[in-house]
Amino acid sequence: MNAVMNTYARFPLTLVRGAGTRVWDDAGNAYLDFISGIAVNTLGHAHPKLTAALSAQAGTMLHCSNLFHIPTQQQLAARLTQLSGLERAFFCNSGAEANEAAIKLARKYFYDQGSTRRTIITAHQSFHGRTLLTLTATGQEKVKTGFDPLPPGFIHVPLNDIEALKQSVNEHTAAILLEPLQGEGGVNLADAEYLQAVRRLCDEHGLLLLLDEVQTGIGRCGTMFAFEQAGIVPDILTLAKGLGGGVPIGAMLAREGVATSFGPGSHGSTFGGNPLSCTAALTVLDEIETTALLDNVRARSAQLRSGLTAMAARFPGMGDIRGQGLLIGASLNVDVAPLIAAARAAGLLVLAAGPQVLRLLPPLNVSEAEVDEALQKLATAMENTL
Ligand SMILES: *Cc1c(COP(=O)(O)O)cnc(C)c1O
Repeated sequence: MNAVMNTYARFPLTLVRGAGTRVWDDAGNAYLDFISGIAVNTLGHAHPKLTAALSAQAGTMLHCSNLFHIPTQQQLAARLTQLSGLERAFFCNSGAEANEAAIKLARKYFYDQGSTRRTIITAHQSFHGRTLLTLTATGQEKVKTGFDPLPPGFIHVPLNDIEALKQSVNEHTAAILLEPLQGEGGVNLADAEYLQAVRRLCDEHGLLLLLDEVQTGIGRCGTMFAFEQAGIVPDILTLAKGLGGGVPIGAMLAREGVATSFGPGSHGSTFGGNPLSCTAALTVLDEIETTALLDNVRARSAQLRSGLTAMAARFPGMGDIRGQGLLIGASLNVDVAPLIAAARAAGLLVLAAGPQVLRLLPPLNVSEAEVDEALQKLATAMENTL
C-alpha cells in the first residue's frame, strides 16, 4: 500500500538517480529528462558544482533563522535585484508562497496609502499555485472546485485582450497579475505588445503590475527573466521553480516604493532564504552567467523548434509549436497522454500542459546531441500514436 496522498496522477515510473539530462528508474532503465522536475532542475541532475556548493554549505550551516542576518541571503538579494532592476527581495520556499507574498504586498501597499483598492485581475488559463489565495488567483475552475468559501478580490480576463482588461479596471482594482508565458495553462504567450499596453495601463491608473515568473524565470525563456523580451519591468516579480536548481526556494522582488509596505511582522517564513537554499540559487546564477548558458538556451530552443516544425509537417495530428527558450509547447488535435506514454517507452520523459498540448522543458545545459536524440525518440513516439 502507498501511504502517500493521491494528489498527483503519477506516471508508472520510479526515478532513483540522475546525471545531467539523463535519469534512471529503479530497474536501471535510462531516460532523457525533458521535464526537469517541471522546470526545476535548471542545471540538470547531480551537477558537480551545485553538489559541491551544497555539500560545503551543509557542513557549515544548513539553517539559520531570519531573526539573524544571513550573508548568502543578502548576496542572493543583491544578485536578483541587480539582474531584475527591482530593489528588494523576500525569500520563501515555493511558487505559491511567492505569489501569496506578492498579493499580500500589493494589498498592503494600497492600504498604506489609505486607498480601498484591493482587487487583483488575472488571466484565464493562468496558474498561480495551490494555496487558497493563489488558487483563487488562478484562472482555471478545475483547481477551485470543493474549496469554497474562497477569498474575495479576484477577477479573470482573457489573455492578450487589452480591451477586456481596460473594461475590467475600476476604482477597486489594485493590481494585474500575469505570467509572461503561461506554463501549466497550455504554453500561451502574453504578446510583447500586450504586456507593454498592460504596463501603460498600470502607470495611467496607479496600479501595480505583478509578473509570475515562477516557471519562466531564471533563464528558462532564453533571457534571465521573460519580461526582458517585452521591454518592460514589473512592480513585483515572483520566482521559484528553477531558482534553486532542485532545492526548494521562492522569491518575491519589488521596487523600493512598494517593498516598504512590508515591515517587521507583516510577513515572514521560517525556512525562507536559509543558507542552504540561497547557496543553491547563487550557484545556479553563477553557472548561468559564467558558462553563457542563455546562449545555449536560445540555440537549443531554435534546434528543438525546427525539429518539431518538421515533425508537424509529417504528422497531421500536430498543430502549432509555441513558447520561448526551453519552455516549448506543441499543440495536438488529439489527447496528448498516449504520446507521452509512447515517448516514455522510447526513453524520453515529456509532459502535458493541458489535455492537448505537449510541453518540453529540458535542463538549460542540455546538449545539441541530446536535443537530436530527444527529437528522434519523439518521432518514434509519434509514429506509434499520431
Ligand atoms: C508551478 C507554478 C506555481 C506554483 O509553484 P509551487 O512551487 O508549486 O507552489 C505558481 N505559478 C506558476 C506560473 C507556476 O508554474
